[in-house]
Amino acid sequence: MSNHSVRPKKHLGQHFLKDLSIAQQIAGLLSGHNAYKKVLEIGPGMGVLTQYLLPNEQFETHVIEIDRESISYLQQHFPSLRGRIIDGDFLQMDLRKLFQEPVAIIGNFPYNISSQIFFRVLEYRAQIPEVVCMLQKEVAQRIASPPGNRDYGILSVLLQAYYDITYEFTVDASVFQPPPAVQSGVIRLKRNSVEALPCDEKKFVQVVKQGFNNRRKMLRNALKPLNPPETMLSNPLLDKRAEQLSVADFVKLTQLMTPEQ
Ligand code: SAH
Repeated sequence: MSNHSVRPKKHLGQHFLKDLSIAQQIAGLLSGHNAYKKVLEIGPGMGVLTQYLLPNEQFETHVIEIDRESISYLQQHFPSLRGRIIDGDFLQMDLRKLFQEPVAIIGNFPYNISSQIFFRVLEYRAQIPEVVCMLQKEVAQRIASPPGNRDYGILSVLLQAYYDITYEFTVDASVFQPPPAVQSGVIRLKRNSVEALPCDEKKFVQVVKQGFNNRRKMLRNALKPLNPPETMLSNPLLDKRAEQLSVADFVKLTQLMTPEQ
């Protein structure tokens, strides 16, 4: 059995957290309420977070890791994880097949794919009651940002439609090996009570994306490619810019876009 650490690979976004008290704090953010009995950690690496998840008896910890070297490290150092290490790419997984029940997500995410991870979370939101994660500070702030702020964007609106989001704390680059070029932020997302938005949800996504595509433009102009019906053209929401609209405003816009439904 080797004691070698995993050699950090840049293309996999590997920055290993060295500060154990921060790892413990992040793991402690999972509320462990009754909404789930399973937790999936994305990208455990050498298990710095995993070690604080495993003793928690409120849930069963599973991990998914793309890096073979990390997987063999975990197999050697965490025998109790046996059978719960998924070897693969989170972005390719069918969460409904992997877990036929609610599962919380946790991780020090690979920063290069954190937005893609969140689009998957949205897709599987019915199954994901909670997410606790560390990611690039700017992205963390953007996701947690309220309307009217320059940071507010597509992921903020889409995620805030279904999750209550809190920015927890900032983590300095110096506590990672190797240190990333950016600061990090930890956020928590808890599924709200919205089962479905009171509008066409596919259209909602289109409206949000199109609105922010030209975020400096008034929505009247930004939304032109979606051919808004005549009936809505006098609506004052169209005189605003995407970043000024709340989730409820976007729902309203979507309803106006699809009058017959
Ligand atoms: N949790 C560890 C490692 C964080 S680095 C720590 O805090 O130290 C990000 C981890 O995500 C790496 O282990 C990397 O191999 C893994 N990873 C990268 N892309 C992945 C993907 N698509 N699916 C699953 N894991 C991935």
